[in-house]
Formats: sequence, structure tokens, C-alpha cells
Amino acid sequence: TNDVCPQAPEDPLFGLMAAYRRDTDPKKIDLGIGAYRDDNAKPWVLPVVKQADKLLHNDPELNHEYLPIAGLPDFTSASQKLILGKKSPAIQEKRAVAVQTISGTGAVHLGALFLARFYNPSNSDAKAVYVSTPTWANHNQIFGNVKLPVKGYPYFSKQTKGLDFDGMIGAIEGAPEGSIILLHACAHNPTGVDPTQEQWKKIAEVMKAKHHFPFFDTAYQGFASGSLEKDGWAINYFVEQGFELLIAQSYAKNFGLYGERAGCFHFITSPGSHAAETVSRVGSQLAILQRSEISNPPAYGARIASLVLNDDKLFAQWEEDLRTMSGRIIEMRKVLRSKLEELGTPGTWNHITDQIGMFSFTGLNPDQVNKLREKFHIYMTQNGRISMAGLNTKNIDYFAKSVDSVVKE
Ligand code: PMP
Repeated sequence: TNDVCPQAPEDPLFGLMAAYRRDTDPKKIDLGIGAYRDDNAKPWVLPVVKQADKLLHNDPELNHEYLPIAGLPDFTSASQKLILGKKSPAIQEKRAVAVQTISGTGAVHLGALFLARFYNPSNSDAKAVYVSTPTWANHNQIFGNVKLPVKGYPYFSKQTKGLDFDGMIGAIEGAPEGSIILLHACAHNPTGVDPTQEQWKKIAEVMKAKHHFPFFDTAYQGFASGSLEKDGWAINYFVEQGFELLIAQSYAKNFGLYGERAGCFHFITSPGSHAAETVSRVGSQLAILQRSEISNPPAYGARIASLVLNDDKLFAQWEEDLRTMSGRIIEMRKVLRSKLEELGTPGTWNHITDQIGMFSFTGLNPDQVNKLREKFHIYMTQNGRISMAGLNTKNIDYFAKSVDSVVKE
């Protein structure tokens, strides 16, 4: 089997985590992991999740039966309302269908599988997915697994460490009519750079003119800005514009339910007399795909999220927890920027506070990244991406001084 099944390269992120664990220096900092940490660098169970957990444990009716193929109905309907808004015409007009998935990854996969099977643009060249360069590395693998060709559109400007808007729009405009365009709804991973609302409007305009098909990946709603509406704005704008589109929704970050694999896939069709029939056809095929892939989705995370999403009091507590997480990260961005500016670290550092969400693309080069690891026990991916959640009031001074040292070298 040597030729048929060669040794695969190690996942770079997992290699980094292993190296961090082996490091015995007390000053070591983990900026690789894409999971929230509190000010003591510890995983944080959201208080609202603890409350929901208690309710579940005290429920004498709870059992371990299978969920339906499309998931827990209270969870999928609440997920629709969360992403589209409670009064969404798309929901009222029955233009939306939702299927519970294995977190965001499973939702991207189900969407990919659905497109591979059923997306039939009149121009066969358009049967390709355009992803941002760079994007969450798993996008390439997930679409590759279902043999959908993956192409890139420019996204990040190395000069400004912000959005390469002209490059992005140019590539979307240049893609064959009817192409699938994958968009990060907010808190772009890995760059932390999002389009402004004006830029989103332009992206929608160009995509509409070219009859492109939007696929939104939303893994950070409420986690980025602290406002669920603000972080969901782009998706809602596209829905309002009448697009037929897909959404992959993850609850890993905004509920801290990483290991529970709670997520949802949504199909929304355009307004029109055939909408309800289209949704019924699509829903029936999604159920068959889901059946062959996982039979039925896992219950625990969906039960927790469902309790919170369907109860006004718990929902308000959740919003407070979201502000705790996003607020701490936004504060760390401010402190890091001001420390680097005070130290006179060469370069500009406004991008640290301009970027949003879990990650920041620092602009540190691979050589500097290696020096930070070897000399200062600071671990980050080779592309200079740091997880802001790895910084806290106790290590940020050491981190800023270490960056200053390698940049000045
Ligand atoms: N999409 C993006 C852009 C992400 O950053 C993530 C989380 N790393 C995901 C999807 C999905 O993660 P999960 O499967 O844990 O929900």
C-alpha cells in the first residue's frame, strides 16, 4: 500500500500544539489555538452553558434516543431565527430550511456535498468554489473531498494589513457567471479583516450581476463584535437582496461548545411562487445526504444551545457572556497596539485594533515567528497569525517586548 497510501504530512496546527505542550518554560504562550481563553489562559465554560447544563441534568424526561435526521427541531428553528432574524420574511415565507450538523465543519461539508451533487450552472466552468486567499485551511480540504474545484480570490493586502478590496471585487467580477463564492460572514479566519458594510453592498451588487451563488461561513456570530445583529449583518443584507444562498453556522466559539459539535446548515431560496416547493425538494435531498453521512446529529450541544436560544432570560445571559469574551479580546487588541507603539516597534500597528474576532494577522514573517518560538517560547502559526484569546493581562507585556525584540533585530 506504500504507493497508494503515502504518509500524510502532520497538520501544522497540531504539530505546533504538541511543541507547546513539550515546552517546560513557565513564560511560554500559546497563540496558535483557535479557542477562547480567560485572563488566566484557561478554557472558559460560559455561565449560561452551566445554567443550561443544570436544567438538562434535572430533566427527568431526558433520554438518549436518536435525534431526527435533520436534528432537534427546536434547535434548527431557533438557529434560523438567530441567523436570519426573528421576523425574517425568508422564514415567514417558508423560503428557508435548516439541518443540524457536526458543528461548522459538518455544515460546510454538507453544503459542499449538496453543491457537488446538485449545483448545475448553465456554464460548466462555473462549477467551482472561490475562496479568499488566505482562508480557513480546512475549506480547501472539505471542497477537495467532494471534488469541487477550489479557486482563490485576493483578500489580504500585505501593505495595509487590511482588505484588498479591489483585488477581491476584480476576481469575483472575473469569475465565470454563476460561480460559487465562499464568504466569511464576520471575523475572517485567519486575517481578522472584514469588509465594511459599504464594501459588502458592492460585493452583493457584483455577485448579483454575475448570478454568483453565495455560501456564507459563520463561525463567530456575537463573538466578534459582541452584537449578534452586527455580526450577522452581511448575511441578512444578502438575504434581503433576494439571493438564493447557503449558510454554515457554528456554535463552537460563541457558545464555547467546541467539543460538542453543535452547528447548522441553512438553505435559503429567493422569493417567488416556487419557493416553498424548492425548499421542500432541497430539504428532502439534504436528509438523504445526512443519513448516509452521519445518520443523525449529536444531541447534547444542540440541547444546550436550544435551551438558551429559546428562553428570553437565558438568551440575555448569553449575550452578556458574548460581551465578556469579545470585550476581553477587543481590550487585548488595544493594549497590544499601545504597548508596541510605546516601545517604538518598527512598522505600523493600527491593524491590530482594526482587525476583529479571534485572530490577528500580525504581519510577522516566518523568520520572526521562528525566533519568537525559539528564543521566547511564544507559539503561533508560520503565517504570523495569533489567536488574540491567548493574550491576557499577565503575558501581554512579555509578548509585546518579545515582538519588539525580534522586529528590531
Ligand atoms: N469556519 C471557520 C472560518 C472557522 O474558523 C471555523 C472554526 N475554526 C469553522 C468554520 C468550524 O469550526 P467547528 O467545526 O469547530 O464549528
